[in-house]
Amino acid sequence: MGMEVFKFGGASVKDADAVKNVAQILAMYGENNLIVVVSAMGKTTNALERIAMACWNGDTQLFRNEVNELEQFHLTIMNDLFDASNEMIYNQVKNEFRLLSLKIEQPRSDNFDFEYDQIVSLGEIISTRIIAAYLNQQQLLAVWEDARRLIRTDNTYREGSVDWQKTDALIKERMLPHFEKNRIVVTQGFLGHTAEGFTTTLGREGSDYTAGILAFISDADDVTIWKDVPGMLNADPKWFDNTIKLDKISFKEAIELSYYGASVIHPKTVKPLQNKGIPLYVKSFLNPSEEGTVIQESPDFDHLVPSFIFKMDQLLISVMPKDFSFIVEKSLSSIFNTLDKLGVKINVMQNSALSFSLLVDRKKVDLEKVIAVFSDDFKVKYNEDLELVTIRHYDQATIDRVTVGKEIILEQKTRETVRIVMKDQSLS
Ligand code: ASP
Ligand code: MG
Repeated sequence: MGMEVFKFGGASVKDADAVKNVAQILAMYGENNLIVVVSAMGKTTNALERIAMACWNGDTQLFRNEVNELEQFHLTIMNDLFDASNEMIYNQVKNEFRLLSLKIEQPRSDNFDFEYDQIVSLGEIISTRIIAAYLNQQQLLAVWEDARRLIRTDNTYREGSVDWQKTDALIKERMLPHFEKNRIVVTQGFLGHTAEGFTTTLGREGSDYTAGILAFISDADDVTIWKDVPGMLNADPKWFDNTIKLDKISFKEAIELSYYGASVIHPKTVKPLQNKGIPLYVKSFLNPSEEGTVIQESPDFDHLVPSFIFKMDQLLISVMPKDFSFIVEKSLSSIFNTLDKLGVKINVMQNSALSFSLLVDRKKVDLEKVIAVFSDDFKVKYNEDLELVTIRHYDQATIDRVTVGKEIILEQKTRETVRIVMKDQSLS
């Protein structure tokens, strides 16, 4: 029997109807064994981030309000899915919330990222409990498995780096044997654990990556990511009216697009699939019988239409050595070292003789800290309210179209890709 991996994101399980729809999709696939990877329901992860923050700050009032609201959100969904007589699922979920609500009284470590993972991971635990219970109620017999026992990472909380060897052994020992008697295993995306058994997460939106890992290790025939869009589009419908669905693209193209920020799949997902030639489908959970996009090995897919990726609220930071040195290997090495320690993620970088510039997401960087750290040795300047557009397979007409009314701050071109940092002229 073949093996497939399905991944359902937060939007696909955001309310009771959505959960019912997931069960209907699974019922359509009666043939193969299925590993079903599920995210937290709707915007649960954002709520848990606020809860983790309130807990860290010791803000009891806010903490309790947020926890209650999140519990209510889940109970409302459950009341639509289950009979009150289904005590087991109510007990399981209430118990998770009880443990969560105790956290405000418990002693905390001095590592926020650690505390964050212990709390934020609960969204997936709760969603998968609910999904598994609902599937079983619908006679789609499913085993619940705890990804906190399957995916081994290092101790980098909030961005665990996967230990492939250990993970391989754990999955083969603990998960795959379920398929001797069962056809569906439901597990959490986004979660892992350290060698000491503490919970880690793989980075926001990391559930896709989990699907990639499980597919690689279980030698799956394919992976399907179920989304609220019809597939991979050549632009985000938020910014573009006339988007085109990409029917077939190569692994390389998918990696490039997600690396540049196309938010349809998490950038780490595709590499393991490419390594084993496992095709990845992106399909709509609203129209499950439609084709979607297939990402596959093929040299001749990518005679492509231009694809656009926008990132708003960008910040360009430039650092200039205060002494007489130029920006050369030595200074670059120390700059990168510092940025790495600060956990800064660079979207675009450029250097000249006297300055090094990096573009970052404004919301993801602590600007004051960056300035403080660099200001001993460097002069630091910055420019806010910028936009970054990346165009794959560009031509001059598309560049002209997206830069109308914009001041171009920086432009980088390769044969296939142009990246433009620009400012809305009404802002400058
Ligand atoms: N629930 C996590 C998040 O929202 C992981 C995921 O959805 O992929 O970031
Ligand atoms: Mg999500």
